[in-house]
Amino acid sequence: TSIDSAATRAREYATTFIDTSAALGRRLEGQVAVITGAASGIGEATARSFIAHGARVIIADLQDEAGTKLAKDLGPNAHFVHCDVSKEEDVSESVGLAVSVYGQLDIMYNNAGILMPKSMGTDTGISDLNLADMHDMFRINVYGVALGIKHAARVMKPQRRGCIICTASITSILSSLASHYYTVSKHAVVGLTRSSASELSEYGIRVNCISPTIVMTPFLRIMLSNPHLNKKLGEWRTSEAGCNLSQTFLSPDEVAKAALFLASDGNYISGHNLVIDGSRSVTGSPKL
Ligand code: NAD
Repeated sequence: TSIDSAATRAREYATTFIDTSAALGRRLEGQVAVITGAASGIGEATARSFIAHGARVIIADLQDEAGTKLAKDLGPNAHFVHCDVSKEEDVSESVGLAVSVYGQLDIMYNNAGILMPKSMGTDTGISDLNLADMHDMFRINVYGVALGIKHAARVMKPQRRGCIICTASITSILSSLASHYYTVSKHAVVGLTRSSASELSEYGIRVNCISPTIVMTPFLRIMLSNPHLNKKLGEWRTSEAGCNLSQTFLSPDEVAKAALFLASDGNYISGHNLVIDGSRSVTGSPKL
């Protein structure tokens, strides 16, 4: 009966689980990943983790010096490529490199993103919305992710397997103190995740995104250098609402752990937005 076959499958799963637990040290053995924005912060922590778990990684980033240095530091299983995710030829080349250097693409992590384009200075209120600034932000945070999914899908569809991960943000479900443009761009990442997960599931390709609260990366420095945001972040951190977990800024490793989980486990997990915020978004916290 179907109940018996389910029980058999559960036993098989338990056996496999025990077997794989023994090998938990190498959860991505033999897999190939492209990580955008990997020269710093969350992307760098994830590249380090993926390599420690047996993967080979293409570090795709704008920062040539930091990216080259990181690849050298990580050894033969890391390869740096200059990539501006807002340029289609760069994204296509980064994905192509995974195939030409390592022969396949198992994981595409669309992680690169910015809080504010340099030209913008600080964000404006909604009544001063400027479409040119908004477009500058979208070119990286939205179109960059869309291009990553597009080019990964082209390689993964014939393979009939693959895992695509995108970094959204807690501002994908909440408003942001930093920027209307940023908030909207991260909501769009969730939309891209859901729509492509739905289309690609028949090819065995899973698409998920990760939404961390504030993470201690160089990105945070941009927020702290803005007097308005600095003050707001101080208030946010010391506010009474929420538990201790939710008042802590994350380490990039916490996000890397989520990426590792999505890449190595959960064969049926697709179309999700994995929020990492120590419960803040469900606690009813002050404005972020
Ligand atoms: P980071 O600044 O440390 O790293 C971002 C990396 O992306 C840098 O190496 C940068 O060179 C690269 N990059 C920027 N524009 C690029 C482009 N056009 N093409 C290719 N690479 C580009 O920041 P981080 O905190 O690690 O940010 C990574 C992602 O996490 C971003 O999408 C960000 O929106 C998101 N995020 C960050 C936080 C946070 O508080 N730090 C919170 C939630 C989500």
